[in-house]
Amino acid sequence: MNKSTEVTHKIAPLIVVSGPSGVGKSTVVARALELNPLLWLSVSVTTRAPRAGEVNGASYSFVSDAQFSQMVESGHMLEWAQYAGNRYGTPREPVQASREAGVPVILEIEVQGARQVREQAPDATLVFIAPPSVAELDARLRGRGTEDEAALAARLEIAHEEMSASLEFDHVLVNADVGLTATALLELCSDPRNEDS
Ligand code: 5GP
Repeated sequence: MNKSTEVTHKIAPLIVVSGPSGVGKSTVVARALELNPLLWLSVSVTTRAPRAGEVNGASYSFVSDAQFSQMVESGHMLEWAQYAGNRYGTPREPVQASREAGVPVILEIEVQGARQVREQAPDATLVFIAPPSVAELDARLRGRGTEDEAALAARLEIAHEEMSASLEFDHVLVNADVGLTATALLELCSDPRNEDS
């Protein structure tokens, strides 16, 4: 092809961070954003009630069931999933806009959502954060104290299922140390193979 007529459309990487509840995904992603503020973390929409300290529009956009359904039906979700009795989803438009503006995007989502992103955006890099051991994961989830017994049991069960999905991911990072895991994640975000130039 004639180089001068070739369309060079550069779209920034899309990094999906997934892994079982309690593994420390949010902490790792927060550290990665401190280390590289040029990354953009997508704000998910959820029907879950806010926890103490969570801020609408920053932690999540908290919506009603009807609002969530409306977003799904109108095609506004890049992906969405039912998780432990609530729905969570990624709005499509801001992800697209950031990528087109050359800003790498991170999604922090559960495994079913990661699978949908793979279908919709085959260039996405899927990263699974794994615990050093299953016992450690159980201890972290219990120690967090954010869920009642029933919700905790549901999350532990899902967490054990999610562990077996790690083989579907491009990379697995074992989160034994938040700083090291965040640094490894940043290396994947800047991997030249993730850029289409
Ligand atoms: P939590 O209730 O602990 O904030 O989140 C529960 C699970 O939902 C976590 O695994 C979290 O990563 C995931 N999650 C958060 N936002 C989204 C989203 O937009 N889509 C999907 N599929 N999962 C999400």
